[in-house]
Amino acid sequence: MPRKLGQHFLVEEPILERLAATACGAHVPRVVEIGPGRGALTRHLLPHTDELHAVELDASLVHRLKREFAEDSRFHVQHGDVLETDLAQWGPATITGNLPYYITSPIIEKFLALDERFQTAVFLMQWEVAQRVLSGPNSRDYGYLSVAVQLICEVSLVCKVARGAFSPPPKVDSAAVKFARKRAAPANLPALLTLVGRSFAQKRKTLRNNLRPFYGDAADKLPEAGLRAEQLSIEQFIDLERRLAQRASLD
Ligand code: SAM
Repeated sequence: MPRKLGQHFLVEEPILERLAATACGAHVPRVVEIGPGRGALTRHLLPHTDELHAVELDASLVHRLKREFAEDSRFHVQHGDVLETDLAQWGPATITGNLPYYITSPIIEKFLALDERFQTAVFLMQWEVAQRVLSGPNSRDYGYLSVAVQLICEVSLVCKVARGAFSPPPKVDSAAVKFARKRAAPANLPALLTLVGRSFAQKRKTLRNNLRPFYGDAADKLPEAGLRAEQLSIEQFIDLERRLAQRASLD
């Protein structure tokens, strides 16, 4: 089995059912599943939906899935790399999957870049990334990913999953995380994400030092110049970006 594709199959039925129920509730019209593998989660998702589109990179698993679900008209599988796949091509959908851990962050960012037709994602990911996604200011794990996710979504921990729930077991524990898109993303999101990236460029440095190369003297005059990015809440980042944009428009 090509381990490099992050192939650790979930074998605990209660966890699979919990993932499916969290992603779909009683029923959703359409689900997109990332990395269906041998179909363990797929089997739990299908009763909750009219239409399931799975994206799987391993050709041998795609053949196996086609055989396995040949009789089920709700099931569709596409052979390909999820990062190269347009997840919006089938229309509004709930997105889910037991993710290949080597690309967890790019998959989360791919979900964030979708629009409001994609309200919910439930992903199983390595515990370390789940902590980064879920953490708030003044904690070790709070960084660019935390702020980028929380600007766009409400995030919640569904459950922690021990490595023994997988075959073969991965080297790390995992967690299922639910992403619920907020009603309105900040209008100036690209500028905000740029600012957040610059602010966290060197985590131990103050905002003054991280931002001076981009905003010159204005960075020194910020009331929060002496703080580090990890001390700023989501709302404080939004406010900081608004003030910097106002200054720029006056220059
Ligand atoms: N969902 C299955 C389960 O829970 O048992 C398998 C999960 S396994 C952690 C990750 C799956 O993603 C594997 O089937 C792997 O082949 C697939 N995969 C890896 N890289 C991928 C990629 N770039 N695009 C799509 N699928 C990928």
